[in-house]
Amino acid sequence: MPESREYQTEAVVIKKIKLGEADRILTFYTRDHGKIEAVAKGVRRPKSKLAGHLELLTYTQIRLARGHNLDTVIGSQTIDSFLPLKNDLWLTSYGLYAAELVNQFNPQNSANQSMFELLIETLSRLSQAQNSDLILRYFEMRLLDISGYRPQLRECVACKTELKPEANTFCSAAGGALCPNCLYEEPTSFSISIDALKVLRFVQKNNFETAGRLKISAELAGELKNLMAGYIRYILEKEVKSATWLDSLGGRFDKPAA
Ligand SMILES: [Zn+2]
Repeated sequence: MPESREYQTEAVVIKKIKLGEADRILTFYTRDHGKIEAVAKGVRRPKSKLAGHLELLTYTQIRLARGHNLDTVIGSQTIDSFLPLKNDLWLTSYGLYAAELVNQFNPQNSANQSMFELLIETLSRLSQAQNSDLILRYFEMRLLDISGYRPQLRECVACKTELKPEANTFCSAAGGALCPNCLYEEPTSFSISIDALKVLRFVQKNNFETAGRLKISAELAGELKNLMAGYIRYILEKEVKSATWLDSLGGRFDKPAA
């Protein structure tokens, strides 16, 4: 095989499906090529040397051979397996949520360094879990920024006046917050508390070093989660048309109260 048919890149395994007796089709989010799919042959066999380097959420240096339809993984060397994350069921589900959002928001073969860095940083932060709720909200906010869906949170989306600490709403269809005068009576509008608006603005404006220090009550964390989930679901349904996976997750992310 001529050398030019092989290439390598840093990648995170974001999805895997079974193929045939012993193979898998893996979806990678890569530093140099964005989202790609490739076949990993024999990785479901117990003796596969590659398998341990191709687990979901593993950050790895992969080598691929170009194929007619799908490329084939011919080498993989783990850079970070994010072991603390994989040893915790909740953290694993949070990591998979981040991976799935990256999968849903990105087309194939479109490199985006910022998106790649965001994914790596998020998995790394979840591995050192201090404040996993905030890690996910920060991830969602940056993902929306990078993807061109930054919600407007300072001025009313409709009349452009600066939002005051009062009974504002968040409207997914409008792409941001609305003042009481412009309130839309429609299904994608939610009331947004003054604190929720403040936190979202803070997360939007600051880096994680700063935003990650916020202390948030369980009630406010719940409001923020639902608000972001509603907006993301709306975008996926309207623009990406594939939000069904979000629904299929059901209550998986609703950690029961201890
Ligand atoms: Zn307004």
